[in-house]
Amino acid sequence: MDITKAKEVLDSFERERYAYFYAMSTIELDATTVAPPETQEGRSIALGILSKRMHELTSSDELWEAVNALCDNEKEAGEIYFRRAELLRRSLADSRVVPTDEYVAYSQLLSQASYVWHKAKLASDWASFEPIVEKLVETQKHFAELAHPGEDPFDVALDKYEEGTSREYYDAYFSELKETLIPLIAKVRAAEQPDDSWLHVPYPIEQQKKLSQILMDAFCLDRNHCAIGETEHPFTGGTSSKDVRITTHYYEDMPLASVYSVIHEGGHANYELHVDPAYDYTVLAGGCSMAVHESQSRFWENYVGRSREFTDWLWPRFRELFPEQTAGKTADDFYRCVNKAQPSLIRTEADELTYSMHVIIRYEIEKMLFAGEITVKQLPETWNRLYKEYLGIDVPNDRQGVLQDSHWSGGSFGYFPTYSLGTAYSAQILQTMKKDLDFSALVAADDMKPILDWLTERIYRHGHFIKPGDVVPSICGEPFSAKYYAEYLTDKFSKLYNL
Ligand SMILES: [Zn+2]
Repeated sequence: MDITKAKEVLDSFERERYAYFYAMSTIELDATTVAPPETQEGRSIALGILSKRMHELTSSDELWEAVNALCDNEKEAGEIYFRRAELLRRSLADSRVVPTDEYVAYSQLLSQASYVWHKAKLASDWASFEPIVEKLVETQKHFAELAHPGEDPFDVALDKYEEGTSREYYDAYFSELKETLIPLIAKVRAAEQPDDSWLHVPYPIEQQKKLSQILMDAFCLDRNHCAIGETEHPFTGGTSSKDVRITTHYYEDMPLASVYSVIHEGGHANYELHVDPAYDYTVLAGGCSMAVHESQSRFWENYVGRSREFTDWLWPRFRELFPEQTAGKTADDFYRCVNKAQPSLIRTEADELTYSMHVIIRYEIEKMLFAGEITVKQLPETWNRLYKEYLGIDVPNDRQGVLQDSHWSGGSFGYFPTYSLGTAYSAQILQTMKKDLDFSALVAADDMKPILDWLTERIYRHGHFIKPGDVVPSICGEPFSAKYYAEYLTDKFSKLYNL
């Protein structure tokens, strides 16, 4: 196929793929925000049809030929078409080997899995979810074997979510991190904890919503292109640099939960909103990988949002909205309570210090599961054993244990490690940023624009054009290292807890 024709085929495919992606994202957004509970049937039918058509599109021989023609003629294709083709070849190679009927059956399994998991979680009923997890793991292994015969299926899964990673890569990263985390968590456990009971009294939801608006302004989120909704499990959905949605969940007795969800999801949103608009509606739109995306949400949530400079900025605004609840408290109390570190059951509510330990537990469980060292049936007991071993806590039920996260119901095995890896990426990026910007002064003044511009120039605007493994080395001028994250945690929590 000649290059002009190959470009036409690619353009036409990407436009159509975008339309299906847009439709499916909108259905998912509706499902997770405002759709009534018993509306799953029609949605499942619609999603089944759309995903079948999407799979047919991606399986076309003409497209495969076009992608290969562009990949094999880098110079003639030009760098943008070449990168688009390269990325598509990576994902198409995986999906083309799956027969359409198996793909549709898998999509339906996912839809059913999500529904069953929600109910199972509410009822803390692992047994009802267990057979679905069996099927999901079997299918993942089968698909991995089809696309990458002979390779380890868990390595395939890890590489799918973060290109270039493997068990070897994460084993090295996590073992280095554990050397810092385990003794540091033990010291913090033995130290005196701040009393945060005043942050667990009723905080009216209407006032919390006003705070969300203040935070959206504080982090430069443009309402013309970014809206906020409510959901059970906060997430960000973006369809282009002009349309991104964030979500949060309000708990009356936990105002900080929504505060940090909004900042976290706002970080994801700012990334997507600042991708070069020329990449819209192509595979180059959006972030360059799961870990790099998470590096940005966690950068804004933790390194900015939980810093002393930012909590000092937020404190008078927080007091004004909640004068009774905060009576007699100081900015110092607020900072210490925001950063209270204590082993807990739920990953998404974990503090900065113990967070990666939740990820390590999931990584080790998935690794054992895919290696056949444990069965699906043994997931709850393995989960509970590792929470006791690493965080010293007893898991009272499966709802707060093995059933807490939605990832497995979405077939996302190998996804969790990207959360921790991204956090470590951004710790290293922060050190470089501080050489260029007076980071503390900017955060203290809520002058986020220079920080946003710095990140846009180096990461956001490039979308998926850049490779995830190149991000840290190109910004920092050295290979990725876990030491910056470990040093940051040691420094911050030693000061907070007078260790
Ligand atoms: Zn995130």
